[in-house]
Amino acid sequence: MRIILFGPPGSGKGTQGELIQSKYGFPKISTGDLLRQEVAAGTPLGRKAAAQMKKGGLVKDDLVVEMMKERIFKEDCRVGYVLDGFPRNIFQARELEAADGQRKEIAIDIQLPEKIIVERLLARRVCPECESILNLSLTKPKQEGICDHCGTELIRREDDTLEVIEERLKVYHQQTKPLVGYYREKNTYRRIDGSGGIQAVSRQIYALLEAAMANHSEKEARK
Ligand SMILES: [Zn+2]
Repeated sequence: MRIILFGPPGSGKGTQGELIQSKYGFPKISTGDLLRQEVAAGTPLGRKAAAQMKKGGLVKDDLVVEMMKERIFKEDCRVGYVLDGFPRNIFQARELEAADGQRKEIAIDIQLPEKIIVERLLARRVCPECESILNLSLTKPKQEGICDHCGTELIRREDDTLEVIEERLKVYHQQTKPLVGYYREKNTYRRIDGSGGIQAVSRQIYALLEAAMANHSEKEARK
């Protein structure tokens, strides 16, 4: 099972990915984490990525794809994996398909009205010390304004402003639109309503996953 999570900033897809990981044991793989790990470990791919970032650019698609291909064939991905932030465009989607096309797939799009996205992002706080992220519209810290993990005062990120948020959303929709078409055509695209709380969203995701898994084992049994 390959689970691809789409969702605009503020949709909580990172959190949902972690919940899927702990419920079903599929590792959650995000492009950002993977890049950081490879760079920190100083692998050949990590060194190449670091060099590209140093030049001020984004890491090139082919390098991201290469890292991803290595990651999804590790032992812990044998039964399944969850992708967060990948694929980001059609090139990456096709490469993924070419590398691991036999796997049962579901692409879940967590949809959220723009008004709620903006509200949520403006309610986002980060811990400058341990980098945990908290959304005040979804979760309250035990003590107001203080990080639950390390006790540091939470701050609002400088780029969580209305202007920056609107720009990020525009980019998100531009990137995602072609992917929606791509996965629709493969018939693996599903959309859910992300406007409820964390649990309301995960209930919808679990229902989709369980339907997909049941369907899959039926097919296996008929073989
Ligand atoms: Zn903290």
